Amino acid sequence: MAVTEPAPAALSTEPSAAHEGILRRQSARESAARTYARALPIVPVRARGLTIEGADGRRYLDCLSGAGTLALGHNHPVVLEAIRKVLDSGAPLHVLDLATPVKDAFTTELFRTLPRGLADRGRIQFCGPAGTDAVEAALKLVRTATGRDGMLAFTGAYHGMTSGALEASGGATDVRVARLPYPQDYRCPFGIGGADGAELAARWTESLLDDTKSGVPHPAGMILEPVQGEGGVIPAPDDWLRRMREITEARAIPLIADEVQTGVGRTGAFWAVEHSGVVPDVMVLSKAIGGSLPLAVVVYRDDLDVWQPGAHAGTFRGNQLAMAAGAATLAYVRENGLAERARVLGDHMLSRLRDLAAGHPCIGDVRGRGLMIGVELVDPAAELPVSAVPVEPVGLLGRRVRPLPPAPELAAAVQRECLRRGLIVELGGRHSSVVRLLPPLTITDEQAAAILDRLADALSAAASPRHV
Ligand code: PMP
Repeated sequence: MAVTEPAPAALSTEPSAAHEGILRRQSARESAARTYARALPIVPVRARGLTIEGADGRRYLDCLSGAGTLALGHNHPVVLEAIRKVLDSGAPLHVLDLATPVKDAFTTELFRTLPRGLADRGRIQFCGPAGTDAVEAALKLVRTATGRDGMLAFTGAYHGMTSGALEASGGATDVRVARLPYPQDYRCPFGIGGADGAELAARWTESLLDDTKSGVPHPAGMILEPVQGEGGVIPAPDDWLRRMREITEARAIPLIADEVQTGVGRTGAFWAVEHSGVVPDVMVLSKAIGGSLPLAVVVYRDDLDVWQPGAHAGTFRGNQLAMAAGAATLAYVRENGLAERARVLGDHMLSRLRDLAAGHPCIGDVRGRGLMIGVELVDPAAELPVSAVPVEPVGLLGRRVRPLPPAPELAAAVQRECLRRGLIVELGGRHSSVVRLLPPLTITDEQAAAILDRLADALSAAASPRHV
């Protein structure tokens, strides 16, 4: 279906008074901890699919998608219809964790999509509506089931902002969590990347677990993201993920896959663990499963279901509108093969971005899986003189593998230039130097081309000498 692109936001449009006033009041009244609002000073008033319209009358292509929440984009007709149906039916909107037909239909649809090995013996826990609460529940579950306390988690991980989830995230310094290397090519901790780098990461994990003097007691679980999102869009190699499954299984350590961001077709499979065929013991799901409304669940194998009634409670576990919107989204993604579409379009976008990288030395790496894409910006001026650089293997982009220093200021400039051109992108990664694209899975080829054109243009503008 060909869709006409909205013209890029005019660079010189005068912001409306309403827009200015709302932004001014926001910065005067809202917390200093606000995040997206700082880099994206827009006031969305209408939205459909990929497009957001601001109070200033400008239109933007939204590649942030509510931090990966909007698998079908904004206000998809099937989502709106599902919500209206519940509203018109007179069903209660809030029911704690009581059974309802809406919840029953959501659970049936969700179980239909899950990896068979988990769905066949699955239990579901409805949590408080944020991903971080489902992470808390998963950690608590495996601690209760194993009677152990320690947790294995990875460098660069992001699991949420409540205390247990934060402990398991890469920025934490807590001793209950042992930190393991997450494999990555561009900034490989072993300096080699590829399958060998991933194998070394796996061996380090194995040795920590088997060395009686490693300082890491037998843990209650291992939690990982199949593609690290906030960590800078780093896809785990399938072989490495299978190794993590073997290592944990052999030692009776429950494996928790955090698919909060990677789920519902985003990476080119319905669930990202499917790429490797790994069946985790526990899956943490949120974001897209609520079809743009708040919903979070943990799904796990029935033998782990040992906790007491009320072991993980919460008032807002029964959002009927979210379950209806979520069930409609899951069904639409499944029936329309949107995971496969994300795979094909994602491969195409990655290849176009790699072409772009060839002409832009400030692009250090292009990576991703499906429609979860990252472009890492670096400082090419920091490159060592050729004579001082040892000969090293050549990376995917045809350059030496030794990574250049990250360029967070350039990334921020690219984000601003994108916004001027009517494109919303997120920044992520260790130094906020990775430009992230998380478009809806429903975008057309033309829309994908428009996104890449605007990004290329923004990159050229931001990297031009006038900016540096
Ligand atoms: N896990 C992952 C992998 C995430 O990406 C996020 C959010 N970005 C979370 C957990 C936390 O979800 P929430 O912000 O809804 O608490």
